[in-house]
Amino acid sequence: MKFNTKVIHGGQHHEPATGAVNVPVFLTSTFAQKSPGQLLSGYEYSRGANPTRQALEDSLASIENGARGLAFGSGLAAIDCVLKLLSPGDEVIAVDDLYGGSYRMFTRLFEKYQLKFTFIGFDNVEELESVITDKTKLIWLETPTNPLMKLVDIKMVADTVKGKDILVAVDNTFATPYIQKPLDLGADIVMHSATKYLGGHSDVIAGALIAKDAELGEKLHFIQFASGGILGPHDSYLVLRGIKTLALRMQRHSDNGFEVAKYLENHSLVEKIYYPRLSSHPQYDLATRQMTEFGGMVSFTFKSGKKEDAIKFLENIKVFTLAESLGGVESLANLPAMMTHASIPEDKRAVLGITDDLVRLSVGIEDAEDLIADLEQAFNTIN
Ligand SMILES: *Cc1c(COP(=O)(O)O)cnc(C)c1O
Repeated sequence: MKFNTKVIHGGQHHEPATGAVNVPVFLTSTFAQKSPGQLLSGYEYSRGANPTRQALEDSLASIENGARGLAFGSGLAAIDCVLKLLSPGDEVIAVDDLYGGSYRMFTRLFEKYQLKFTFIGFDNVEELESVITDKTKLIWLETPTNPLMKLVDIKMVADTVKGKDILVAVDNTFATPYIQKPLDLGADIVMHSATKYLGGHSDVIAGALIAKDAELGEKLHFIQFASGGILGPHDSYLVLRGIKTLALRMQRHSDNGFEVAKYLENHSLVEKIYYPRLSSHPQYDLATRQMTEFGGMVSFTFKSGKKEDAIKFLENIKVFTLAESLGGVESLANLPAMMTHASIPEDKRAVLGITDDLVRLSVGIEDAEDLIADLEQAFNTIN
């Protein structure tokens, strides 16, 4: 099956009792048994498995080319599950420009349990090799990163740790499998905040893991079952419904993202633009190798460098909504230093380049002309 077919049919079947084309929302916590321990249909208790969640999990495995999908109550619950594969003393190497909530979980929750986190740029093999120790058990990547759209060469990382007892996990929230398939490039685990593009309609908080092989999938399922961070049946249905239009939406997000990026590139008030399809992007070559499209996330800074200009701009946008989050059909804008990335210490933000005037756009699937006209009128309020 090819991707456009997979998002609709991958891992799906009609409901056997009635032939319903869509999986019903199975609002049940428990399932009747024939005799103690003898199940009617394989289902026992919905924390372990629920048919609606199962349909979503099978879809996730299909679209990411993995062996097993797992759906969680949030993206962070999915990351929490991966970290629980580790034991005290183990070391994690993570990309330095990380989603704020992931950084917060790593440093404020898991360091307490004696996991050690090293943050690097993954700029080359030598840098990576210099921080790998015999305690390194997990590599945590995001590509493109949030909000600076830095890329990590997934294949380079996977090749570097090949044969070692080190898992490579990729947060694929920004790209989605429409654009990049980390498991095909050698990663072991893909993670999603399904709240974003997979759900796609800003109406649900959800997370996902996809394991490359069944054995790892089983270990993760055990942690999911034992810790309990599952996604409920109604929310599972919403994400499954979102995935059906993933291919259409991602193409439009990518087309509009490129139009907006080109517009910003020529704007007199704009200093830097972060978008991997622009040839000005420092990793443009990697982008064209690793990604088939470039998505709807575009970040930029102001020539003035002034936070006040960014705030004025954000107060005046009308089609774009000033809000956290991303990946929905509607366009959003955010000031990472004060919103999504406020949990990253100021000095660290400065080193990374998350300046106070950096604006992050999640370009939606509206008409690009309307989006650009909106940006134009918001820029015009700055004097
Ligand atoms: C939103 C987000 C998360 C966290 O997901 P939640 O669903 O909000 O828990 C993790 N990684 C990235 C890249 C995100 O954008």
